[in-house]
Amino acid sequence: MHKPKVLITGGAGFLGSHLCDKYIKNGYQVVCMDNLITGNLDNVKHLFENEDFTFINYDVTNFVYVPGKLDLILHFASPASPIDYLNMPIQTLKVGSLGTHKTLGLAKEKNARYLLASTSEVYGDPLIHPQKEDYWGNVNPIGYRGVYDEAKRFAEAMVMAYHRFHNVDTRIVRIFNTYGPRMRTNDGRALPAFMSQAIRGEDITVFGDGSQTRSFCFVEDLVEGIFRLSQSDEVNPVNIGNPEEISIKEFAEEVISLTGTKGKIVYKDLPKDDPQVRQPDITRARSILNWEPKVSRREGLKRTLEYFKQVV
Ligand code: UDP
Repeated sequence: MHKPKVLITGGAGFLGSHLCDKYIKNGYQVVCMDNLITGNLDNVKHLFENEDFTFINYDVTNFVYVPGKLDLILHFASPASPIDYLNMPIQTLKVGSLGTHKTLGLAKEKNARYLLASTSEVYGDPLIHPQKEDYWGNVNPIGYRGVYDEAKRFAEAMVMAYHRFHNVDTRIVRIFNTYGPRMRTNDGRALPAFMSQAIRGEDITVFGDGSQTRSFCFVEDLVEGIFRLSQSDEVNPVNIGNPEEISIKEFAEEVISLTGTKGKIVYKDLPKDDPQVRQPDITRARSILNWEPKVSRREGLKRTLEYFKQVV
């Protein structure tokens, strides 16, 4: 039987590894490519015995070669948390720019469909709320987050150029804050920080006064949205995320109450250019993909806590 074949860059990362599972489950052969600078083989080791799964340790900022046919490329390789951008600014810029160029070249060569992992960070510290796909954003190009934001904005421009000039069949997903099992405990993001601190009985570090908002999507919902987008005809960017918005202080309080920790909230300086608000408008995903999130934050946080208890 002919099985479609997908290349997933960043396939050993948090989102990438869940996508490997999703496409295997849906009858694909999966080539997982990762240079493991933020990815972790533990995330995909359960797939090693699967004959439809191949792992290649490779940095996609170089010329990418994959033997045989390819039907789909999902470009998910990138450092993806604010402390990763601080520690790896040049790798972040390179994988969003050179890595996107190389993988688009591969898509053109193989006649494969291409899906770019873009981000709500293209909207920067948004002046429009909630964020719709037609908002152009408010990004500081030379700030600490600029290396990620501008790389992803460049990547979107490159994808549209390959689509318009080379007729590559492309998709762009703008991913909003996502959480779930396989996040790195030390990636510095709010949820892994809060859960690790709570499990260790340490204080919970809220940056600023905690009034800034985010909207958190459980990974299972996100991956379903991405799968549907990859099967759809939509070339324009599509927001995928959970529109349920919460302040970071309330989010910390939810983690405290769920874990029953003795840790208390302590307030630290707000990082520069930290967006004040963030909430996806998912009207487009609802109408085109017939998609919306199903997992409540209560349920998602419970399932995530089970994972963090094992790894912290
Ligand atoms: N944050 C926090 N404490 C932490 C880590 C993050 O208060 O230990 C805040 C951060 O300043 C931001 C929000 O939580 O306002 C979400 O941060 P995260 O790094 O998860 O992702 P972002 O949405 O900023 O990319």
